[in-house]
Amino acid sequence: FPTVKSLALQPVHQPGQRRDGILSHEDFLRIPELVINPLGDRIINVFFPEGEDQVNFRGFMRTLAHFRPIEDNEKSKDVNGPEPLNSRSNKLQFAFRLYDFDKDDKLSRGELIQVLHLMVRVNISDEQLGSIADRTIQEADQDGDSAISLTEFVKVLEKVDVEQKMSIQFLH
Ligand code: CA
Ligand code: CA
Repeated sequence: FPTVKSLALQPVHQPGQRRDGILSHEDFLRIPELVINPLGDRIINVFFPEGEDQVNFRGFMRTLAHFRPIEDNEKSKDVNGPEPLNSRSNKLQFAFRLYDFDKDDKLSRGELIQVLHLMVRVNISDEQLGSIADRTIQEADQDGDSAISLTEFVKVLEKVDVEQKMSIQFLH
């Protein structure tokens, strides 16, 4: 997972003040933590609807909601109610979209390698990355298409503490 926990989004606290609440790519690039995050570009892109270079404030808040940590009092909420955007499964879907570079709803070996490449900072050879990717796919792939679907992705990460790993700490 990207280290979104360390992202501080407070520079965009008042995005609604200019241009009628429209945010551009540039606005996001002013967030230092996002710029230095290896997955920063990908994170910025998920805020923008397909083919658009601007996002309105509502859309921004909706995407941002995925990063909000789950409060204790939200966990006990009515299970029949609509799922909050920051629920575990929504967060996993969000992460999946983040990694699915070509948007074919599958994580390919190449995409896994790219993600690993971005996340693993130590010197590691392409060969080693490749074998990590192979092993991950081997473990996760259930339908034998050599790629990881959302279902398979969710299954693999079942035991990972996604809620905490995918939360942005707000400074205010
Ligand atoms: Ca893909
Ligand atoms: Ca598969």
